[in-house]
Amino acid sequence: MALKQSLAISSLSLVFLTAVLASAVRFGLFPSLFACIVSVLAYNFFFIPPVYTFTIADPENVVTLFFFLVVAVITSNLTARMRSQAITAQLRAKTTAELYAFSRKLAGIIGLDDLLWATSYQIASMLRLRVVVLLPDENGDSIVVRGGYPPEDALDDADLAAARWSWDRNRPAGRGADTLPGAKRLFLPLRTGRGTVGVLGIDRDAPGPLLTPDEQRLLDALADQAAVAIERVKLVADVDEARVLAETERLRSALLTSISHDLRTPLAAILGAATSLRTYGELYDQSVREELISTVQDEAERLNRFVTNLLDMTKLEAGVLELKSAMIDLGEIVGTALERARKVLQRHSVVVDLPSDLPMVRVDFVLFEQVLFNLLDNAAKYAPPGTSVAVRARRRDGSVAIEILDEGGGIAPEHLPHIFEKFYRIRRADRQRAGTGLGLAICRGFVEAMGGNVEAANRSDRSGAVFTVTLPIPPGAPP
Ligand code: ADP
Repeated sequence: MALKQSLAISSLSLVFLTAVLASAVRFGLFPSLFACIVSVLAYNFFFIPPVYTFTIADPENVVTLFFFLVVAVITSNLTARMRSQAITAQLRAKTTAELYAFSRKLAGIIGLDDLLWATSYQIASMLRLRVVVLLPDENGDSIVVRGGYPPEDALDDADLAAARWSWDRNRPAGRGADTLPGAKRLFLPLRTGRGTVGVLGIDRDAPGPLLTPDEQRLLDALADQAAVAIERVKLVADVDEARVLAETERLRSALLTSISHDLRTPLAAILGAATSLRTYGELYDQSVREELISTVQDEAERLNRFVTNLLDMTKLEAGVLELKSAMIDLGEIVGTALERARKVLQRHSVVVDLPSDLPMVRVDFVLFEQVLFNLLDNAAKYAPPGTSVAVRARRRDGSVAIEILDEGGGIAPEHLPHIFEKFYRIRRADRQRAGTGLGLAICRGFVEAMGGNVEAANRSDRSGAVFTVTLPIPPGAPP
């Protein structure tokens, strides 16, 4: 009305055209067609003389109105089509982004259960379906429900039959499919290039076809990704299993070699000494008899250490190691370990350097003593007699480091990363007391169980090895 003064009546139609375009952009085809009709009527009623009637006096205006209608219908059509294309493109982009996010998520999942849950949830939420996933059982001769969203653990007989059929024939079965359409769900095989890994079951409360062609494509994409991920997880599990088997095999043979050697040597010595004592005991003088007896004792102690180590290792491996942790004074436990190692260290001089302000630590006394003993035992074994073995402790922020230093040949750098492994021994030509390769493995196992860690290195000030046990200072420990 305001523009009526300044514009020719025919130009006013442009104002209406704007409204038609706006409604096509905003609301789509039908609202804009409705806007066309209302515009034609309003234009006629309010502006084309005679005004306030639907009659048209001038035939020229009929033509104007007719062309206005044609232009409005065509533009609203075009605009509405553009709009729906833009919406489709947006939806596609969203779906692609979701698919991409899903595949990234799958790539990060290691466990099968998490994977199945994530897959079911994704399919259920993107397609608004109920989802179950069935995978072959351990023997591989039947399939069972392994996951779903919402969680579901049992299927009725018709569904189960359809699922099995789909698994056996590698084809869809169940609701809406050619086979067993009486089932409640539709079952689709999850396929990869190497074969079928499982079956996906879907259903929805609404009757009629489950999926539109677009949804079907999306489901295919999701199912393909899921199948590949399931296969990946299974392959990883297979590889792990193979690795564990190989490792067990290696351990078994190492254990056998070690046991046969380590049990036999001391047993032979004990047997020899005992037999000599029994047979020629009378003929030997006191000092020879003493020596034989101490051989028996030493070798029996070595056997005992070996068996203790083996038992400890087994407990560690089986995870049945029970920690009896308590607040303990480091000086006290170092003292006990040194006392126990006195005999093995009798040909070394021992230097102890413990500052008086050491905090208490939280450890299992028996196990920690065993750790220190194993380290001292090694120092005695691998450093020549007459050298000194030092035990030092230092406080660092938040932890205490206990170092055992010897003056032996140290450890060659290429062996350093391995010496804490089970049965790892560095063979050397010179004579040395036999070991089992378990001592350090046990040290690491125990210390880690107590929340600390142990490291090996070579001394920088001179030749020799240094083993550092680091324990956290428990919160609230007296300074
Ligand atoms: P073992 O029963 O052979 O002593 P360990 O697990 O205690 O088994 O040690 C593994 C290997 O680490 C040993 O065979 C030895 O070669 C090396 N090793 C351990 N402690 C020392 C040390 N203080 N100095 C030099 N080498 C050492």
